[in-house]
Amino acid sequence: MKRRDFIKSTAVFVSGAAVSTSALVMLDPQEVLAENPELRWGFLVDTLKCVGCGMCVKACKLENDIPYDANVTRTWVERYVMTRDGEVFKDCPKGARDGYTSKLIDENASGMKLVSDKDITQAFFVPKLCNHCELPACVQVCPVGATYGTKDGVVLIDRTWCIGCGYCIMACPYGVRFFHPVVHTADKCTLCYHRISNGGNTACAQACPFGARKLANLRDHKDPVTKIIMTQRVGVLRPEYGTKPQCYYIGLNEEVR
Ligand code: SF4
Ligand code: SF4
Repeated sequence: MKRRDFIKSTAVFVSGAAVSTSALVMLDPQEVLAENPELRWGFLVDTLKCVGCGMCVKACKLENDIPYDANVTRTWVERYVMTRDGEVFKDCPKGARDGYTSKLIDENASGMKLVSDKDITQAFFVPKLCNHCELPACVQVCPVGATYGTKDGVVLIDRTWCIGCGYCIMACPYGVRFFHPVVHTADKCTLCYHRISNGGNTACAQACPFGARKLANLRDHKDPVTKIIMTQRVGVLRPEYGTKPQCYYIGLNEEVR
């Protein structure tokens, strides 16, 4: 059985109806490369579909050996609550690893806040991860070339070269980088490069029960996710920084930073 057929047949058991087989077919890099040598990975987040369950955060931590209880994470989900009088509350306890199960908003040192339902005008969740920027500020500042972009558009860190100076952590305008508490190098989302380079999906996209996260080959105009990015109203985070993020969002509110 060819790997492609295997992926198709196992998808039904592993992911049920949540992942379409057509989405998995397009993730075979060998075949995509053969018909389109300019593979360029991108990502789509649909905030309208996210319910803040945190399954993606858990899956990422487990897949990528990020200490489960440490206060660091490669991806996280923010909650935004807006009120009639124009207040905007945002929280993200433990990166939303355990999901949002309470209406109480975590205001850190100020304690927990309960906003009455009748005062809420809008509430939504925003998953965040590395934007795998086309012009990444993190790569520009690394003094030893330990952080770099791959030909297919993923920004990675070579742990054997990283000296832990922290310049990239300071330079990233999206705050996605952190010091790995065990290996003591800079760390961040790799877009599960070890998986997507072998025909798989990212752990977060695979784990999301609602299809709020999707991987795309932006150079393949037949890719169903790329089609959405090209034809629907999508936005990126902080375009004013000029980093050209390649993580696109549906339903991005102007209050999201
Ligand atoms: S989001 Fe930050 S860490 Fe990721 S590529 Fe862009 S600048 Fe670098
Ligand atoms: S798994 Fe999906 S729905 Fe749940 S928090 Fe993550 S993106 Fe949102």
